[in-house]
Amino acid sequence: MSQKRKKEVDQILELQNSISQLSDEELKAKTEEFRKKPVKDIKLEAFAVVKEAAKRVIGLDAFPVQLMGALALYDGKVVEMKTGEGKTLVSIFPAYVRALEEKGVHIVTVNEYLAQRDAEWMGQVLEFLGLSVGVSLNDMSSIDKRNAYSCDVTYVTNTEIGFDYLRGFLGTKTLRSENALHYCIIDEVDSILIDEARTPLIISDENEEGEQLFISAKVLAERLVRGTGETELSKIDAISGILPDEDGDYLINEKDKAVILTEDGVSKIEKYFGIDNYSAPENVKYQHHVVTAIKAKELMHKDKDYIVDHGTIQIVDEFTGRILQDRRYSDGLHEAIEAKEGVEVQDQTKTAAKITYQSLFNLYDRKAGMSGTVYKDRKEFKEIYHLKVERIPTNKPVIRVDHNDQIYATKKAKEDAIIERVKEIHELHRPVLIGTTSVQMSERISDLLTKEGLPHEVLNAKNHLKEAEIIAKAGQVDAITVATNMAGRGTDILLGDGVADLGGLYVIGCGKHEARRIDDQLRGRAGRQGDPGESMFFVSLEDDFMKQYGNSELSSKILENETEELNNKTMRNHVLKTQKKIEQNYYGIRKNLFDYDKIDNLQFEAVIDAKSKVLNQFSVAGLFYQIIDMMCKSFDYDKLAKRLPLQDLHVTKEDVEQKKAARKLKDFLKGSLENDNEEGVITQRLKSCLAYAIISEWTEHIQKVEDLQKVSRYQGLGKNPLDYYKIEGYKLFEQTINEMKYKAVETYFAF
Ligand code: ADP
Repeated sequence: MSQKRKKEVDQILELQNSISQLSDEELKAKTEEFRKKPVKDIKLEAFAVVKEAAKRVIGLDAFPVQLMGALALYDGKVVEMKTGEGKTLVSIFPAYVRALEEKGVHIVTVNEYLAQRDAEWMGQVLEFLGLSVGVSLNDMSSIDKRNAYSCDVTYVTNTEIGFDYLRGFLGTKTLRSENALHYCIIDEVDSILIDEARTPLIISDENEEGEQLFISAKVLAERLVRGTGETELSKIDAISGILPDEDGDYLINEKDKAVILTEDGVSKIEKYFGIDNYSAPENVKYQHHVVTAIKAKELMHKDKDYIVDHGTIQIVDEFTGRILQDRRYSDGLHEAIEAKEGVEVQDQTKTAAKITYQSLFNLYDRKAGMSGTVYKDRKEFKEIYHLKVERIPTNKPVIRVDHNDQIYATKKAKEDAIIERVKEIHELHRPVLIGTTSVQMSERISDLLTKEGLPHEVLNAKNHLKEAEIIAKAGQVDAITVATNMAGRGTDILLGDGVADLGGLYVIGCGKHEARRIDDQLRGRAGRQGDPGESMFFVSLEDDFMKQYGNSELSSKILENETEELNNKTMRNHVLKTQKKIEQNYYGIRKNLFDYDKIDNLQFEAVIDAKSKVLNQFSVAGLFYQIIDMMCKSFDYDKLAKRLPLQDLHVTKEDVEQKKAARKLKDFLKGSLENDNEEGVITQRLKSCLAYAIISEWTEHIQKVEDLQKVSRYQGLGKNPLDYYKIEGYKLFEQTINEMKYKAVETYFAF
């Protein structure tokens, strides 16, 4: 703990002594007083005021460690505070102080239940102090949303703030300002900026492309045969078209999630679609559909990666086991899975606007985040988000006992051991929480428990509505709860009467997750606020991640010996090493995607900036004159006539040839502006034409960029695909900017 923080906390506690003497009215009056002063001068006193207000209004008096966390959030850090330490209360301290700057503060939560709960619960304190508090929910009208965002502090989920932002860009104004977001505090920041960062938020337009090609590709993929060869070919080799000479039609590299076609495979595809050269640029469409169909066949597993629910494909979040409502895989993968499962292939959609969480949260002037488990990922926060991680000590020492991993040769042996352990704990009437890594596994464990006559509750993506209810009971005597690791993040497991004396909650992990952080989240369900508790993870060498990433030689040597229980140090290190390898691999993939995103994001940010500039401050007429000059310079009569109604405007071919066209067009516009009415209808119209042109051309641009990204993987032969994408992407962007300009003028003269 830094000395600076400790000193500041002492000062706040000192200040509270005098502030606690104030009447309610005097305490409330502090807010107005603070508004008149520079924020840095009143920070500590303001913290003391919030502390006193929370104590009076909701009966919570913040602990010194909570103040420490609050100060770190104020400084824009990512704060690690364990579950149960009271992060909800912590966030209103920096929110209050930053809200005094009157530009709006967003507190971002992972689900609507929490957004609403926290807005009501903590809202009482902020409102007592004279601030307004709003919440933006999915089913609200844009007027209600606008009201919510005009509040001093707004609670909102990460998904909703993303979509509200995109809607704002496309024309439905809800946020205060499109380009300058002020300050946000992101709860469960690791889940949003690391786990979910890979899924972009997309607002779509309908697209007429039919389902036939997806179905043809699926039929073909079913006929193609997977080769037996192990391949060490990397993704880069695969996308630069290197064809290994192996058996079968294609090979799969599970690690990189890549499909590699063999020569046989390629000739079958050519025959099937009746094309001459599979690798030719004009066949990008087939390349993409076939590879995607094979991916859907080989790499996407039902009840693990997705579930089929009422004829639709729903994505299961790989880290939390939660259904990602209304999300679709991008790049045609979702449609390919629909074809694979024989459900209706939903209309392929065209992206109208999209943004990643990385880009969205980087738009804030200042951001902060908190979570129970971020310290292990501090490198990633630093490198990708330029955020520093600060670890806050717990209020009371953690007395939970985390046992060594129990390692078994086979899945069967592991499962037997898990059930045995559950029985032992259950006989003591102690509550047990069993964490699983997939929906499938949760169902398997549930079946085994049922066979043994052990009563239990199951919490997975299929019944998340009962989530809060099940979690509330998970800490009671005799409770057995099986959960995918979602386990109601953000909701506390409180221990029932007498449970602490029995030893508290016992957490069992049925397998290691792909990041140690997620294991820690599960462990952290026990031992909150100094409660007793235990945790133990069970691993088998047959677990997917050990098979895919583990040292197979070592594993098979051990399997041959058929040892029942393998709890020696070498084995545990082997598991840990494997897990670290996976973490690194995923980090690599994310970093690579971020590099692509960064290019898209820079362009999007430039467009947002341009849009708000032209709409707010710029002399639009001047811009139109410039564009007219540009058009008349670059186009001959025929081209110009295609874009502008020259005849109606009395511009002749001679005018264009003698360079008089620009003058005429500008005079025409000038005339209209001189006769503009008081409200400036013409100026307004110029602005709408610009806004329209920017949005519609941007939508076109995204489409082109998506195609380019796919193509760069096939075409960047011998080049670094990212460089290729950067160069070509920039050219496209320049064209788009010009098209936006032309289109604005075209639209103006068209009516
Ligand atoms: P986290 O999000 O860090 O897991 P929560 O914000 O959900 O924790 O709070 C956990 C519990 O601790 C809540 O029931 C809350 O009322 C309680 N709590 C928080 N701060 C305090 C405090 N200073 N004194 C007493 N109880 C507190």
